[in-house]
Amino acid sequence: MSRYVNRKTRDAVAKRARSRCEYCLLHEGDAYLAFEIDHIISLKHGGNSELDNLAYSCVACNRMKGADIGSIVLPEKEFIRLYNPRTDSWEEHFRIMGPRIVPISDIGKVTTKILLLNDDLRISEREALISVGRYPPQLL
Ligand SMILES: [Zn+2]
Repeated sequence: MSRYVNRKTRDAVAKRARSRCEYCLLHEGDAYLAFEIDHIISLKHGGNSELDNLAYSCVACNRMKGADIGSIVLPEKEFIRLYNPRTDSWEEHFRIMGPRIVPISDIGKVTTKILLLNDDLRISEREALISVGRYPPQLL
């Protein structure tokens, strides 16, 4: 299975996401680095490069996610999958509170943890975007 995503597919993924990271909602126009194509179910876990397994992702979210597909919730150590932009609704798993992305489900909790959605640098970035009216984004 090739991890290569051709230009046409990449453009379709970006357009579908309206140039926003499908995990943290950052707009590509507000990022320093070009966004990447995320394999929601990574290739090593059997995912493919079809549109329904691809998401538009900022570099920070994609690097933190890596090949992960989930994590455990303590203390039960139950496996919980990560948020899937193709099958889940963002608003059912997260809320925006000021510069923070607050999880409201177990899927939201593990996704926030693994992708480090609220690390200091990202909070600072969102605070700067709030100050110029670029965050929170319009979701619809
Ligand atoms: Zn992101």
